[in-house]
Amino acid sequence: MSAEAAGAQTPRRDPTCLFCRIVAGEIPSTSVAGDDTVIAIRDISPRAPTHVLVMPRDHIPSAAELTDADADLVGHIFAMAAAIARSEGLADGGYRIVTNVGAWGGQTVDHLHFHLMGGRAFSWPPG
Ligand code: 5GP
Ligand code: ZN
Repeated sequence: MSAEAAGAQTPRRDPTCLFCRIVAGEIPSTSVAGDDTVIAIRDISPRAPTHVLVMPRDHIPSAAELTDADADLVGHIFAMAAAIARSEGLADGGYRIVTNVGAWGGQTVDHLHFHLMGGRAFSWPPG
């Protein structure tokens, strides 16, 4: 399948998706970092002193849809998360990066995003 055909099957934007609308600037958010492919915003309902969502601009429903072709994207997301953790003063104490998948995973927004959480200790395993 050509890249063009694959692209036609997997739209880069879902007009019904909350995070696609945030990416497009249709819904306001507090930006922490961002570039051509990835944005980082403050979670609207923070569960930790620092709670940032790092996500691709393109619509990918969840980590379950990632493939080898997304290796650079995922590496870039983690590099951005680590840079934010340093700039937010989390690096020394440690922090958590998590992505939820599906109903039992606790996913409520079906646009791939990684929670970067820090500023307090977390228990393991998560509830
Ligand atoms: P999930 O439950 O899918 O793992 O994470 C979704 C996250 O998005 C939740 O932590 C929730 O607080 C956050 N969220 C939901 N709506 C909005 C919004 O309109 N703006 C921002 N910045 N975060 C949101
Ligand atoms: Zn989306």
